[in-house]
Amino acid sequence: MIDRADVVVIGSGGFGASTAFHLVERGAGDVVVVDRYELASQTSPRAAGLISHARTTDLMCELVRRAAGKLERFTAETGQPLDWTRPGSLKVARRPEDVPVVEGDFERGRRLGLDVELLSGDEANALHPLLQPDGVLAVLRVGEDLYFDPRDVAIGYVRGAEANGATFLPHTTVTRVDLADGRVRAVETDRGTIRTSCVVDAAGAWTRQVAAASGIRIPLVPTRHQLFVTETLDDVHADLPIVRVMDAAVYVRPCEGGLLWGGYEERPRFFDMDELRRDFETPQTPLDADVLWALADDVHAQLPVLRRAAVREHRGGLPTMTGDGQHILGPAPGAEGFFVAGGCNVSGLSVSPAVGEALAGWIVDGAPPLDLEPLSLARFAAAGVVQDELERRAAWEYRHFYGAR
Ligand SMILES: Cc1cc2nc3c(=O)[nH]c(=O)nc-3n(C[C@H](O)[C@H](O)[C@H](O)COP(=O)(O)OP(=O)(O)OC[C@H]3O[C@@H](n4cnc5c(N)ncnc54)[C@H](O)[C@@H]3O)c2cc1C
Repeated sequence: MIDRADVVVIGSGGFGASTAFHLVERGAGDVVVVDRYELASQTSPRAAGLISHARTTDLMCELVRRAAGKLERFTAETGQPLDWTRPGSLKVARRPEDVPVVEGDFERGRRLGLDVELLSGDEANALHPLLQPDGVLAVLRVGEDLYFDPRDVAIGYVRGAEANGATFLPHTTVTRVDLADGRVRAVETDRGTIRTSCVVDAAGAWTRQVAAASGIRIPLVPTRHQLFVTETLDDVHADLPIVRVMDAAVYVRPCEGGLLWGGYEERPRFFDMDELRRDFETPQTPLDADVLWALADDVHAQLPVLRRAAVREHRGGLPTMTGDGQHILGPAPGAEGFFVAGGCNVSGLSVSPAVGEALAGWIVDGAPPLDLEPLSLARFAAAGVVQDELERRAAWEYRHFYGAR
């Protein structure tokens, strides 16, 4: 067992693996990644693999722009495969109150130089014959949006980092980060202690528990999210645009000759990781197909295909929601050397290339490469969030991810 490191990364999902890869690339010294299970095996490989450029803040638009570029260059940067396709996307407004939202996205996108266009339902139907124009008031087309195979990203960064000198310790659970005089001193695991002055808590659904063991409160809540992959369909091809129906919070993309689709229900199921068995793994997350069928009913007029397509895979995982729907990235106040990469809000895998690069730069240079202050843990310091309030806000953010606020 290794007993010292310059940086210890806790978790080998998209956030942790990307951070480790970029730390090694930046010459951060001895980088050790600890994971309680198989490497890259928890929520990350279970994602839908969508990236959305139409975000509500300039900072998120910039992170997504950087991340999308890195996904397209993934193989050149890491030496590892990544299957990706850029068919663009169609964001569908069915309610009058959602029309100004897509118009706002359009204006922001144009200002930021994106390939955006406002379409009618009929024009969208011409691009995507499975999307019916009935009840569609407006559609935003975003040319840059792409989808990728979620199974490739975290493991690709793991293998790339390992090839460049990072050390990975799977099946090793971090039990506590030791702090002395407000500074990180060591990471305790069930297989021994690693002395270090810098740690990155990228423990996914367990991010909060890892930090809490050192007295650091991270207000996020693990939230079940699930999707279906259908059998092959005659009229589906890989270049069909991604579709997002705003108020229903349903997304659809092509996947291996069929469709991959999922959505965000009104009352999501939250999990307290302390209440689960100690050996609980994300693939054991209890799923509920009725949630997805109710969403299919909601969008039946626009996407009747969802009801008729046979399902070949039902999967889900435990992304983490925050009370304001924004990630938590950067240092923990009062704990020098303790960094957090959490609060993925069901969109962390796609931004993980840019998040890892930014955190690695922050650790090596002592300052972030772009202003990440709006995503800081410190923003919650004054609020002293109570759990019920966190869950109420998180549920609202979960359902309203597409901006139908
Ligand atoms: C169905 C579904 C669809 C999704 N679709 C998308 C999408 O289209 N686009 C998108 O960007 N995102 C999507 N997401 C969200 C995405 O999967 C997450 O944002 C992302 O995977 C989070 O990565 P992570 O590294 O935080 O977590 P994880 O991948 O879960 O990694 C955390 C790691 O930490 C380890 N760990 C935990 N505790 C400890 C400990 N004490 N000691 C050591 N190791 C520990 C775990 O074993 C795990 O390997 C989706 C999620 C789901 C479930």
